[in-house]
Amino acid sequence: MNFSKILHRFTVTPSLPKELAGLQRIAYNLWWCWEPDAIELFTRLDPELWRETRHNPVEMLGILQQTTLEMLKADEGFISHLAMVEDKLKEYLAAKTWYSKLHREDDGLRVAYFSMEFGLHESLPIYSGGLGILAGDHLKSASDLGLPLVGVGLLYRQGYFRQYLNIEGWQQEFYPENDFYNLPLHLERKADGTPLLLELDLAGNRVKIQIWRAQVGRIPLYLLDTNLEENSPDDRNITTRLYGGDQEMRIRQEILLSIGGVRALHLLGIEPHVCHMNEGHAAFLSLERTRLLMEERRLKFSEACEAVKAGTVFTTHTPVEAGIDHFPADLIDKYLGRYYRGLGLSREEFLSLGRQNARNPHEMFCMAVLALKLTGHANGVSQLHGEVSRKMWKNVWPDLPEEHLPLTSITNGVHNKTWLSREMARLLIRYLGTRWLEDPTDASVWRRVSRIPDGELWRTHKHGREHLVDYARKRLKEQLCQVGATAKEIAVADEVLDPDILTIGFARRFATYKRGTLLLHDVERLARIVNNSTRPVQIVFAGKAHPADHQGKELIRQIVQLSHQERFRHRIVFLEDYDMSVARHLVQGVDVWLNTPLRPLEASGTSGMKVAFNGGLNMSVLDGWWCEGYRGNNGWAIGKGEVYDDLEYQNEVESRAIYDLLEKEIVPLFYDRGSDGIPRGWIACMKASLQSLCPTFSTDRMVQQYSETFYFTAFEQWQMLNENNSTLAVDLARWKEKMHRLWHHVRIEQVEAEMSQDILAGSSIPLRAKIFVDEIPLDQLAVDAYYGVLDSRGAIIGGELVPLTPSAPDGAGAHYFSGQLDCRFCGRHGFMLRVMPKHPVLGPIYEPSLLLWG
Ligand SMILES: *Cc1c(COP(=O)(O)O)cnc(C)c1O
Repeated sequence: MNFSKILHRFTVTPSLPKELAGLQRIAYNLWWCWEPDAIELFTRLDPELWRETRHNPVEMLGILQQTTLEMLKADEGFISHLAMVEDKLKEYLAAKTWYSKLHREDDGLRVAYFSMEFGLHESLPIYSGGLGILAGDHLKSASDLGLPLVGVGLLYRQGYFRQYLNIEGWQQEFYPENDFYNLPLHLERKADGTPLLLELDLAGNRVKIQIWRAQVGRIPLYLLDTNLEENSPDDRNITTRLYGGDQEMRIRQEILLSIGGVRALHLLGIEPHVCHMNEGHAAFLSLERTRLLMEERRLKFSEACEAVKAGTVFTTHTPVEAGIDHFPADLIDKYLGRYYRGLGLSREEFLSLGRQNARNPHEMFCMAVLALKLTGHANGVSQLHGEVSRKMWKNVWPDLPEEHLPLTSITNGVHNKTWLSREMARLLIRYLGTRWLEDPTDASVWRRVSRIPDGELWRTHKHGREHLVDYARKRLKEQLCQVGATAKEIAVADEVLDPDILTIGFARRFATYKRGTLLLHDVERLARIVNNSTRPVQIVFAGKAHPADHQGKELIRQIVQLSHQERFRHRIVFLEDYDMSVARHLVQGVDVWLNTPLRPLEASGTSGMKVAFNGGLNMSVLDGWWCEGYRGNNGWAIGKGEVYDDLEYQNEVESRAIYDLLEKEIVPLFYDRGSDGIPRGWIACMKASLQSLCPTFSTDRMVQQYSETFYFTAFEQWQMLNENNSTLAVDLARWKEKMHRLWHHVRIEQVEAEMSQDILAGSSIPLRAKIFVDEIPLDQLAVDAYYGVLDSRGAIIGGELVPLTPSAPDGAGAHYFSGQLDCRFCGRHGFMLRVMPKHPVLGPIYEPSLLLWG
C-alpha cells in the first residue's frame, strides 16, 4: 500500500500560554543566537533539552511538557527575563543604525545576497563550512548595520552530512532529515493562505518551488524548496543535500538558486537594484535579471545586460580553478538551451560567456568566468587572494595590466557577537563600554583593552579553556558510547585534556591543502612537546572531509589513531561532527589557533578572527587574512610567506618551524608566570592581538566596505542606466557597437618624448602622440601614458596613468595628443601609450578588444 496517498498531513504547533507567547516570537527571529540574554532564556527553559535539540528553541518549545509550561508561567523571575529579552528584540528592530544615520534610509536601495549555503546557527544546518558561515555573518552584520538587504538560498532537507568516526577513526556520514516545521521558518503564502508557488523550467520539466523565510534580525532570508508532492522524485531531490550530487545535480541547484531566486523575489514583490553573488554558484542570476529587463522594457540582450552588470557584485572565494564549477556544453544545452535562445543569443554567444577565451570551443563553461563577465564589481576575500585572483583571471580582461583589472579585494570578517563568549563580552563591556558593540571598527575603543587588569583577562580566558575541556570530555564520551566502546575506554574520556595547560586548536575542512597533519610530521618531537613534565601542551582537532575525499578522510584517521596511542591519549583529542557549536567552544577556549594552509590556497580563513575576538592567539602560515593581521607582536607567523615547488620539502621545513616556534617561543611565554601565576608576556601578546585585530576583522567592517565600495556605487549606476526606460543602458550598448565597428581603424602613428638618457628626479618630460582616430570624436577617446619603474624583465610595475589631451589636428583623421610625465622617483622608467574609448557620460570604458597599446 502506498501510504503517501492515504495520509492526511497536518501540523501541530505548540500551544503556549499567552504569558509565554513571547518565547515563540523570539525563537522565530535568529537574532536570538547573537543575544546572550536570549540564549540564557532558552537554556533556562530546560538545559538538557536545550542541548539535545542542538540549541533549537522552536523544536524545544514543541517538546516542552504542559506541566513545565504551567510552572514557567508562574515563575516571576522567568517571566521578567522573558519580558526583558522581548523588549531587547523590539528595541533592536526599532533602533537607529549605521545605515539610517547615513541618511540613506529613504533612497530605496535594495540589495539581494545569493549564496548556496548560509551558516547562521547549528540548529539550522544548511551550511558546510567557511563560505556559509561568512554568508551567515554577512546577514547578521547587515542586520546590525540596518542595510536594506535580503538573502536568497536553498532549503536542504538533509543539509550537509553529519560526521561520526568508526572505531578505527574512519569518517562515516549520515544525513538526518531536517523537519522544517521544527525550524524557525515561515512558509510564504498568498493572501488566501495557500502557499506561494513558483515554477521553473528544468530541461523541459516544470518544477514547482515553495519559498520559506528565516528572519535574521531585520533581514529576511528566502530559502527555496522543491520537495513538493507535485514534483517528480528527481525534482524533489534538488534541495535534498548541499554539495551532494553530481555535476548535473549541481547545475540544477545553481539554476534553482539563481534563476529561481530572482523569480522568487519578483513574486514576493522585491526588485533588487544590487544582486551580490557569494561565489560563482549564483552567476546565472544575471541572465534572469537581464531577461526580466528585456521583457519589461523591450530591450535587447546587450542593452539590458549593461544595466544588470552595473547592478551586480561578485565575490570569488576560490584560489584554484579546479575548485570552481565547470560544466560541459551538453549540460548547458540541456538545461539552458531554451533559455539562452529566449534571450536572443546563439549557442556560441552563450557558451563564450563562460569561457576565458571566447573562441576556444574546448573550454568548459566556467561559472566564475560567467560571473566575471556579467558583473561590474568583483572582489577576492583578502589582499593576497585579490592578487591571486587577478593572476588567475587575467585572460578575462585581455590587454589590461594585472593591477588594473576590475577585481579588487575586500577581506573577510566575522560577526563578533556570534563568536564572542559571554564572559569575554562582559569583560569588554566592563572596560571598553558598549561602543564596540555598535561599532567594532573604532580602533580607539579597542585601545582601551590596555586598561583591563591582567589578572581579570587571564581569569576570563581561563574560564573559556575550562569550558572547552568540559565540553570536549562530554562530546568524547558520547562519541565513544555511540561506537560501542568499552566502559574502561569511556571512563578515559573523563580524564582527557587538562584545563590548566597550553591548548592548541585546529579545526577546519580536511582538505589536503589545509595540511591537517603537518603538526604530526615528526611524531617523536611532538610527543616530547605535549608531554613535557612542567610545560605540557594539548591539541584539540575537529573537521569534516568531503564524503568523496579519501585523502582527507585518511588525514582524520591518522589523527584519531595517534590520539589513541598511550602517550597522546590525554593530550590529543579529535571532536566529531564539526559544526558551529563545536567551533564556538573551540574559538572561545583555545590559547593558540593553528592554521597551516599551503600558501596561497587559503583565500582568507576566518576561524583565526573568531579566536582573536576571544583573546586567543594565532599561529599561522602567512596566507589569507593573516598576511594583513600579523604584526610581529600579536601572534606568530610560520615561515615568511615563501612559496615552494617541492611539497615534501615544504612540509618538512614548515613543520620544523612549528616545532621550533612552540619550543622556543610559545611554550616558554605561556609558562613564564609571575609570583601570582599570571603570564604577563602572554597577556601583553593577547592585548596586542585584541587591539590590532578586532577593529579590522569584523563583518561590520566588511559589510560597510561592501556597501561603500560596491553596493552604493552599483545602486547609483543601476539607477542612472535605467532612468527613462533605460535610455542610458540602450545608448551605452549602441555606442559600444559603434566603437566595435570603428575601432580597428584607430592607430598610434607616432610618439615623441623630449628626453635625454639621464633625467633628474623632479623634472618632467613633455610627451606628444599622433593618433589616427578616423570618425571617432576626440572627446570619446581616452589617451593615457602608462608609466612607471621597470622591473628586471623590462615590464612596468605598478604603473601610473597620465592623461594626454587633444592638442592639434594633423590632416585627415589624425590628431595630436599631449601631456607630460613627472619623474618623481629615481631608477629605470618606461612608458607606454594606452588608447581606450570614452563614453560621453560614463567616461573611459574597458571592453575586450577595444584597447590599444603602443
Ligand atoms: C568559522 C567556521 C568555518 C570556516 O573556517 P575557516 O577558518 O575559514 O576555514 C568552518 N566551519 C565552521 C563550523 C566554522 O565555524
